[in-house]
Amino acid sequence: MAQAPADADARRAVKPVICYPVETLPAPDMALYTTARQHLTKVDEVLVPPREARVFSVPAGQFFRIRSVDGPQVGDLNLHNARDLSERFYSGKTRALHGTHITAGERMWSSFPHLRPIATLTHDTLSWYGIDAFGGSVHDVIGTRCDPYTHALLSDGGQYHHCCHSNLTRSLAAHLNVPAAEAEPLVHDVLNVFMCTGFTRDTGQYFMKASPVRPGDYLEFFAEIDLLGNLSACPGGDCSSEHSSDTAACYPLLVEVFAPRAGVLSGWSSPPVNSYDGSHGA
Ligand SMILES: [Zn+2]
Repeated sequence: MAQAPADADARRAVKPVICYPVETLPAPDMALYTTARQHLTKVDEVLVPPREARVFSVPAGQFFRIRSVDGPQVGDLNLHNARDLSERFYSGKTRALHGTHITAGERMWSSFPHLRPIATLTHDTLSWYGIDAFGGSVHDVIGTRCDPYTHALLSDGGQYHHCCHSNLTRSLAAHLNVPAAEAEPLVHDVLNVFMCTGFTRDTGQYFMKASPVRPGDYLEFFAEIDLLGNLSACPGGDCSSEHSSDTAACYPLLVEVFAPRAGVLSGWSSPPVNSYDGSHGA
């Protein structure tokens, strides 16, 4: 280890600065969404089987919920602009803006060059959880998605086909009616719905622990644009022990789509794409 300089303690004592203060972000009109969600009519539902993924559609201006049914289960969520699948959820920038975990009032942002909110979290029955004594919290935008490549690296070439990455690839390929190899590049880093995670304080390592989710809990979203969702019921189940195997107890997840009353969103429109001129100074 390198020798500490004489002023090491002083350097460590420098106070951190928030990288992206969100005070100047365009704020969601939560009062409008709260009004709109008072009277919802369920228009569709999709049950995601354990260790599988399913695609679902949500038109702009509707809500969707991801609900725990039968038992504690973590979900890996991809979101695309339904009209242009290249615009998709940007986990890293969402993390930079809102922190390692997101909850009601925060938003899911899309990839460059669009960088706009594509979904707003409008209700979270786990918002009581906060940050636990280990530094853990729920609905993680740290983890990428469990995948067969990392599994092969860590398990001396082990082959497992029901990691979330593969589940999402299969479901998107089936939806688009294309080979898996064509769908795979569209799969992206996820929102880990219900997953309880953090970083260990001593080694800074990514950890997971049993999700506090119970049947009946749900996370609710407002679709800011026409969305194509893709949700995997992770082979890790509640992620209390391991993933990338069929060992963990796994349960389905229910996606429910709701329409608000006609007219309640009058005056609302989808957020415009990012205002940067795209020239990069060239
Ligand atoms: Zn997974």
